[in-house]
Amino acid sequence: MFSLRLFPDPILRDKAYSVKDFQTDGLNSIVRNMKKIMQENGGMGLAANQIGILKRILILTIEDNIIALINPEIVERKKDKEVMNEGCLSIPELRVDIERHKKIVVRGFDIEGKVKEVSCEDLSARAVQHEIDHLNGVLILDKMERDEKIKFLLSQKREYCKL
Ligand SMILES: [Zn+2]
Repeated sequence: MFSLRLFPDPILRDKAYSVKDFQTDGLNSIVRNMKKIMQENGGMGLAANQIGILKRILILTIEDNIIALINPEIVERKKDKEVMNEGCLSIPELRVDIERHKKIVVRGFDIEGKVKEVSCEDLSARAVQHEIDHLNGVLILDKMERDEKIKFLLSQKREYCKL
């Protein structure tokens, strides 16, 4: 019943809501489906919007484990930044050079509602920043130069142009 949502699906532009009730929000099943869809599509992280659920949930691969973070927030950003070419499962045809923090600390909850804090660096730090962008309705195309973005949107030949 869940599937990977692709640009320009409008749900990718919506801001996800905080999870309030860890008992009844069906988190287990959502996270299970997110993992399945991420693995089927060869990603290293995924935000719930990408399977059509507007809740603040992300999953992330760290050293062969997949962890879930509910209501994630970056609580620390180290100064160092790095530009890397980045893709997104929801916009498979696009790659963008994006500058992001190399090391961050992210705090959220696990699916039982226990506080969880994770230090991330390099690819996993990048993935967390990417997925939190998703939870805020922000996509990698928003990081492009305006001209490049317009070119991309025109190449889509779709009636979608939030600039
Ligand atoms: Zn993405």
